Amino acid sequence: MEQVFAVFGDPISHSLSPVIHNAAISALGLSARYHAFKVRRENLENALSGAQAMGFGGVNLTIPLKEAALKFVEPDPIAGQIGAVNTVDFKNGMRGYNTDGIGAKKAVESAGISIKDKTVLLLGAGGASRAISFQFALAGARLLIVNRTEEKAQSLAQDVSVIGKAQWFGLTELEKHITEADILINSTSVGMYPDTNNTLVKKEMMHSNLVVFDIVYTPLHTRLLKEAEASGARIITGEKMLIYQGAEAFRIWTGISEPFDVMNKALLTALGEKQ
Ligand code: NAP
Repeated sequence: MEQVFAVFGDPISHSLSPVIHNAAISALGLSARYHAFKVRRENLENALSGAQAMGFGGVNLTIPLKEAALKFVEPDPIAGQIGAVNTVDFKNGMRGYNTDGIGAKKAVESAGISIKDKTVLLLGAGGASRAISFQFALAGARLLIVNRTEEKAQSLAQDVSVIGKAQWFGLTELEKHITEADILINSTSVGMYPDTNNTLVKKEMMHSNLVVFDIVYTPLHTRLLKEAEASGARIITGEKMLIYQGAEAFRIWTGISEPFDVMNKALLTALGEKQ
């Protein structure tokens, strides 16, 4: 019988997860299919119970369900600390994981860049930033968290300090601290379609020793990345995080490694069609 995997969210029609997973499933010759379902927050508990009862192989969660899921699943320690779940596995009850930070870590490491002992300036303190900051702190980075709403940066730095090194600053201090950074990560939505002319980092602030990673992937080459490249910095585009977080979820569900190149090709084609 065909194994069913799914992503739940609302809205969900924009999700590219079916594209990347179904490409990998076909390439691997598996009898499986990955579907997207619109699930409202108030229906999450029923949807998860239904998926479990029907023998789904696993479920991903996206906006606005990641935080709400903590009430219904047993989170692994890191997902509990992050405060959000994007992957639910049914093999042993209903276990929750967060693979977003692992996806970001692999995106950087796959570019041949080591994270240990690096100073990472993280722009943002929302959901994606929380996932990234915990995984990067675990990997031995020193984090400088910069966010528009300073209380959120402070609270995230405090939470992360339990496992690693983290300081926080307001946006007005960005220019001062960017000089200390080895890696700059934009994990805000600034620069995302349709506001593609926006950036939080002035071109003059960047330097050639910097690696600049933008997790926004619509467009792939954001204004931040274009200006970083022009400043001589190395750049990493956001679709790699999307692929690696998906592949990590599939590994949790099945133990199988999905092929990056196949997923990347399918994703770039789909992004090309959307942009
Ligand atoms: P979120 O929880 O809503 O957080 C949004 C973050 O962006 C907050 O830090 C917010 O600052 C900041 N922000 C938004 N508008 C801003 C502005 N005009 N000026 C300064 N800061 C601004 O969202 P999220 O789930 O973390 O997602 C953030 C982005 O990452 C989205 O574009 C999403 O598509 C992308 N993403 C990519 C991947 C991937 O796999 N590549 C995975 C997850 C998310 P305040 O706290 O001050 O509001």
